[in-house]
Amino acid sequence: MTEAELLARHRAVLPNWLALYYQEPIEIVRAHGRHVTDSQGRTYLDFFAGILTNAIGYGIAEISDAVRSQLDTGVMHTSTLYLIRRQVELAERIAELSGIPDAKVFFTSSGTEANETALMLATQYRRSNQILALRNSYHGRAFATVGITGNRGWSATSLSPVRVSHVHGGYRYRGPFAGWSDADYIAACVQDLRDVLQTTTSGDVAALIAEPIQGVGGFNVPPDGLFAAFKEVLDEYGILLISDEVQTGWGRTGEHFWGIGAHGVTPDAMTFAKGLGNGLAIGGVVARGELMDCLTANSISTFGGNPLATAGAAATLDYLLDHDLQGNAAKLGDRLLAGLREIGARTDVVGDVRGKGLMIGIELVEPGGSDPSPATASAVLEHTRERGLLVGKGGLHNNVIRLAPPMTLTGEEAEQALDVLGESIAAVGKGHTGAG
Ligand code: PMP
Repeated sequence: MTEAELLARHRAVLPNWLALYYQEPIEIVRAHGRHVTDSQGRTYLDFFAGILTNAIGYGIAEISDAVRSQLDTGVMHTSTLYLIRRQVELAERIAELSGIPDAKVFFTSSGTEANETALMLATQYRRSNQILALRNSYHGRAFATVGITGNRGWSATSLSPVRVSHVHGGYRYRGPFAGWSDADYIAACVQDLRDVLQTTTSGDVAALIAEPIQGVGGFNVPPDGLFAAFKEVLDEYGILLISDEVQTGWGRTGEHFWGIGAHGVTPDAMTFAKGLGNGLAIGGVVARGELMDCLTANSISTFGGNPLATAGAAATLDYLLDHDLQGNAAKLGDRLLAGLREIGARTDVVGDVRGKGLMIGIELVEPGGSDPSPATASAVLEHTRERGLLVGKGGLHNNVIRLAPPMTLTGEEAEQALDVLGESIAAVGKGHTGAG
């Protein structure tokens, strides 16, 4: 079957809203390290795997072995009504790594479920269905999480049971705070938070949930310390802080193990997924024990924390800690940012290059101006694919190229990606004339 035939069958039987990348979508059939191979035998350097699934890379023997040895026991999963040793052991490690006092962990099979759980805990604990979230945010695709998502392109339904108010605090390239200093921006966001609390909520809000760096929203990096400033206001009201670490956790931002670490503040709960499983379906919530235990009736996740997923997750955690992948993310992230800024300076279609560690966004704009250019982003995506590099897209206007390579990335691969991105961006943009 050709890829075109598979695409036709996909379109016929899967929902229309299940978006696919590329004019001619690809099917990945093999992978190793940071490379994937499609069904036509073409190999690509995967600069988006890191966020989506394979946070640290493909075909890592230690992880495959751990999963295989669990499979060899014949147990992929048993009932959650029995003890699961690996779940307990992994929970203990995550509780400790979280830095949250008296932490407890609940495992799920996705980031959406993790955030749904966190929202349920917060609303139950505070006896309020009012939630604060950031503009431009993405938190998942189920009923409550889609309702708090602050990004129209991903707001599949507006009929959510949660009452949400959105506040500023993620994106600053365009909009009312474009060009503001960090200190002024933080002060404006804090004022906005106070205004929203006093005007659009009754004050007894359950929680503020936020991505420390917005992922789907285009890798928007708020100034360090923003969430500490928010926390002071939240504390006045007793409002909980939930950090959605689905994209920023496990050292990807380089500087800190959790994205919220840049803000010098301990949240009441963190949610995680993607990276921990390195491709296996696992997510979860780590929260203050008192918050986690506030539910009074049974609540289970049939597959959350199953033996297979937790075997893979424990091996992933070992690997990323033993190989200091956080340090690698910091080093190569700096190199990529510097290289991309040079590329950006040579063309008139790059409005902004931003990021931390191996989470880097390139915001594409209409030539010479700052209007968002989703068409340019799509064109860059096609050009990079033709040159053997897979990258992602995002942002409110779908005009941000997102780079999130596996954290085992090598320096040589970083240079290759820069070469391809340089050529691809040059192919769609006009170079500056004259010096500079
Ligand atoms: N939170 C964030 C920050 C995410 O980026 C995502 C996925 N893009 C989710 C939650 C939802 O995770 P999942 O797709 O595993 O349900």
